Order: sequence, then C-alpha cells, then structure tokens
Amino acid sequence: MQQAKIGALNILAQKEELVSDFLELISFDTKADGNATCVPSSPGQLRLAAFLHQKLVSLGIETKITKEGVVIAKIKASEGCEKAPHLALFAHLDTAGDFSGENVKAALVTSYEGQGIELKNGLKTTHEIIPELAHHLGEDIIVTDGTTLLGADDKAGVAVLLSLAKACMSLDKPLEHGPLTLVFSVDEEIGLSVTHIDVPSLNADVGVTIDGSELGELDTQTFNAALATLTFEGLSVHTCCAKGKLVNALKVARDFLLELPQEEAPETTEGLEGFYHPYELQGGTAEATLKVLIRDFDEDNFKKRQDFILEKVSLVNQKWGREVCKAKIDFQYHNMKKYLDESKFEIVKWCEMAYEKAGVKVFKANVRGGTDGSNLSALGLPTPNIFTGALACHGPYECLPVKSFLKSRDCVFSLVKIISKVA
Ligand SMILES: [Zn+2]
Repeated sequence: MQQAKIGALNILAQKEELVSDFLELISFDTKADGNATCVPSSPGQLRLAAFLHQKLVSLGIETKITKEGVVIAKIKASEGCEKAPHLALFAHLDTAGDFSGENVKAALVTSYEGQGIELKNGLKTTHEIIPELAHHLGEDIIVTDGTTLLGADDKAGVAVLLSLAKACMSLDKPLEHGPLTLVFSVDEEIGLSVTHIDVPSLNADVGVTIDGSELGELDTQTFNAALATLTFEGLSVHTCCAKGKLVNALKVARDFLLELPQEEAPETTEGLEGFYHPYELQGGTAEATLKVLIRDFDEDNFKKRQDFILEKVSLVNQKWGREVCKAKIDFQYHNMKKYLDESKFEIVKWCEMAYEKAGVKVFKANVRGGTDGSNLSALGLPTPNIFTGALACHGPYECLPVKSFLKSRDCVFSLVKIISKVA
C-alpha cells in the first residue's frame, strides 16, 4: 500500500496552476444540506461564490452573483469569432451532503504503483473500492486524509472553468473563443441547481457541464425519471375485535411491493435496462406511504412503466375490494439524448472532436442517473457532460488522478477553440 504526501502536493501545486487553484477551491466547505430551507443550502457556497466572483472580476470579466448564489460570467468573443455559437459551461460549487467537506487535507500519491493507497487515517483504498485505479498506474493521484471527501466533484470542474477564464483573458496569447458564459451553480447535489438558473437569460446555444468522472467519459444519455408516491389506506381496529374488520395498510403496501418485478430493480439491472426502485416506506396500520423511483432510458418504456404502476394499483384495489391504494406520479427529468439528437447544433460531435484533439479516447456513457444536462437539455440548451477525472466521489475515497484532471482542461480548451471556428 502506498501512502500520500502533503509536501509532494505542494510541490506539484507550485508547478501547475490548475492544481493550486483546485487546492484553494477545496479549502471552502460547501457541503449541500438537503434539509435546509435557505438558498443556497449552506453558507460556504456563498463564500465560495464571492471568492470566484472577485477572481473573475479581477480578470476583467463581466460577472454577477444572483440572489441564489449562482456566479455567472460573460466572456465576449475574440475578434472574428463573434458569430460562433454561444457556449455555456457549467460547474457546481457544492459538494455532496453524504460526507464532510470541512477542513479537507489533500495529499499526493506519486507514481501510483497499483497496490492500493493507505490514507492518513488508516483507511485503505483498494481496486475493489475503485476499479478504475487500475487505469492510473504510474500516475500522480490527489487523495484525502480519509476524514472528508475531496470535493473534486465538482471543484475540479470549477478549477477547469477558472483556468479557461484565465486563458481567454490572457494578454500574452489568449485562447480563441466565441461568446462564452460560465455558470457556477449551487445545490446540484440536492437536485436544485438548474432550478436556480434562469436558462433562457443565458442566451446560450449549447452547453456543457464539467461534472463527469473517469478520463474520456462523455455523457450523452441519462435516464428518464419519475417518482411514484403511493399511499395505502388501512382501517385501524383494536386487535381484540379486529377479525373481519381491520385493514393493515402495511400489508396492502406489501401486496403492492410483491407486484414489482424483481428482475427490474437497480440491484438486478445494468447498462440500458430500466427499473423500479422502492426506496422508502413509512407508516403504520392505518396509513402507509411508499416511494418508488421509475427509471428508463427509452421514452416509450418510461411511459409503459408509469402505466404499469397504475395497473398494479388497480389490481391491489380489486384484491382488497375498495380503493385502499392511490398513486401520484411526478416527473423528474428526461433523457438528454433526444434533445441532443434533435438540436441543430452538433455539440456532441464537437465534444468528440475536442477529446480527439486533446488525445483522449472517448467513451460515451449511459448515465444511470441524471446530470444537470438532463434538465438543461429539456429547457432548450443541449448540454452533454464532460469528465473531470474525479473517482469515487461523495466519500473519503474520492480521488483525482492529476493527468485526467489536466486532460479535462485540455478537452474544454479544445472544445472552446473548435466552437469558435463554427460559423
Ligand atoms: Zn457533481
């Protein structure tokens, strides 16, 4: 097992501005709080927003912070590139609510040897935990001390955009670019980031989120998603005289659960297969509530799955002889693929060209979840998701292979350049 060193990270940061910016960003605790009633959900996000705002303004970029804490920076096109499609680039300021992001102490594993990594607090990162580590032999990897997450999701993305801003504003040899808008969003981890962005006012033609994971990943497809909330109504009667009268809502819920196909669950599916995922059951004899996620890549199957839930509701009601079960289905997000396919702008092709230019082999991932791009695409801004290089996000094993991180930046720079040439 290899150990990480703080000193080695400091030396790297002195050589590589992207890394030193990243270290500055992860010093802010921006953990999202799903129970908060304020926006953004944690004050650290506002502090980081103010810090970024100041940095961008000092580069001479027109930047504002919205009342929700979203930082929006507008970079005018280079001379001659004014007609290029307007690209919006997104990264989020918050970190996952699952694990602490306070007082992150990052360190560096140099030339990873492939035997796993022992974090400072004794936690061991193995290839069982992060299979992708096997692709990063001989590379430098930024890790945590085991007591916090790293925050590479998505501060690696934020650092890449900051680096893009610097490159565009450079007096020396500026990166050629069309009109750009950089958006640093809040509360992505609790599913609210797009809610707090006025997408039409960005005036952008195409978007990319810099929020993916392994080197080469390009997310162009996500689930279609809905949430079914089922309520079961029982009839509570004292057990002394319950015979023939008591209706136990929990048993009604059980009947419904048994109707869901076992082979169509997250634990039994992969790739492009959809599923039903009952994830929360609350209640007692008199009343119970069940929440079920409905997920499918295919639009028709997605609709069929919603009908299937309703059929099973009637079946349960028939069995019990009255309306003991009701379902409410709320739409959550769309598969972005259809919007990317329908768009007149070839953003996916441009991303693929950019990866190639940066010497990165593309793998198009079918995300078994959503990205901000799902909602942005549905709102008319076709937005695939680009990798940052971060692995095992949301917990203490989170790490960032430095080479992947640098390649993420290279891909974004290439993309900006490629789009600047599109007339
Ligand atoms: Zn993220």
